[in-house]
Amino acid sequence: MSLIVITSERFAEHMTPPGHPEASERAEVMDVVATEWRARGGEVVAPREASREQLARVHAAEHLRRMAETAGISVSLDPDTYTSPDTYEVALLSAGAAVDAVERVMGGSHTRAFVLSRPPGHHAEHDRAMGFCLYNNVAVAAAHARSLGARRVAIVDYDVHHGNGTQHIFETDPDVLYLSVHQFPYYPGTGAATEIGYGAGAGRTVNVPLEVGATDDDYKLVFEQVVLPVLSQFEPDIVLVSAGFDAHERDPLGGGRVTTAAFAAMTAALRGVAERCCDGRLVVVTEGGYDLRALGDCLRAVIDVLAGEATPPVEWPQAPVASSRGRAAVTQTTAALTQYWKF
Ligand SMILES: [Zn+2]
Repeated sequence: MSLIVITSERFAEHMTPPGHPEASERAEVMDVVATEWRARGGEVVAPREASREQLARVHAAEHLRRMAETAGISVSLDPDTYTSPDTYEVALLSAGAAVDAVERVMGGSHTRAFVLSRPPGHHAEHDRAMGFCLYNNVAVAAAHARSLGARRVAIVDYDVHHGNGTQHIFETDPDVLYLSVHQFPYYPGTGAATEIGYGAGAGRTVNVPLEVGATDDDYKLVFEQVVLPVLSQFEPDIVLVSAGFDAHERDPLGGGRVTTAAFAAMTAALRGVAERCCDGRLVVVTEGGYDLRALGDCLRAVIDVLAGEATPPVEWPQAPVASSRGRAAVTQTTAALTQYWKF
């Protein structure tokens, strides 16, 4: 089978304070979904810890040292980000799962990999933990893909929050495309359409900022008019996805109105581009998603999109209400990037 799922029961051992949305119950949902996949004959493997060398490609030595000091203890790293005694090892496994996924897909044993992991990663900066994230899992994966011979790596981030860490790590790198669709203005404050990268990386950061309340139709429009055309023109050797499900209509944090079916459509559309550009090489890595029922439904929907041998049709549901948020975002993003991409 050309899909492998990478996850671990140990992802439940990273504990956050009572009431924290990034709760260990999220890992129990991941475990249930992985068990169902295994029962259908699917392949599920446990990750190894990311190595210091793999992490140091995107993180400062000082950050790695500070994280190592949290081993065995509970500390607060920022107002939202906490460790428990097992967090250090669990975070190494979470980054390691993304590394493992890239290794299998670049090595050709599997075409697609789905990493079900926590803690998430896309807010973690080069030099610090932030926003529930300790290591930037998808950034570590992108750097690992480069080390294995990928010349160009694309990261598409559909989490409702902007992935500030991922953007900042690669914003001067012409060979890593970072493409984010997110609620804006919103936490963490970055992600305006005018943030397009710097120097040799100019144009390789693509931000699609959606006003609160974006619907399936808005996502369809920004995918068709910005995300998919830019991704195709970049011609990546592998596509990585920061798959957060917190734009879901049930999510308690995000203000989006996206349905499970639209998350399936986004993922199917990205699989389609990967098949046209890079022999289907696709690695999907979980980020946020804080309603446990929506999380489970979205994980199952993504597995269904990734599981079959043939790319499933991209079936966008129609939103029940009209919204101009997508159009406004497309206008801003295309204006900022018109000299870099054809829209
Ligand atoms: Zn998020």
